[in-house]
Amino acid sequence: MDKKFYRCMVCNDIHFGVNAPDVCPTCLNKNAYIEFSAEEAKMMMKL
Ligand SMILES: [Zn+2]
Repeated sequence: MDKKFYRCMVCNDIHFGVNAPDVCPTCLNKNAYIEFSAEEAKMMMKL
């Protein structure tokens, strides 16, 4: 299965996996993760 990057809209926590977590482990918000592209991930990691 393909793994994808997910980012928490609330605290910008990054998760890499098959599915987005239901609850963000950092800020505890539910369904806060949005999928984003590997290109975006590379850009963020350079910052
Ligand atoms: Zn969060």
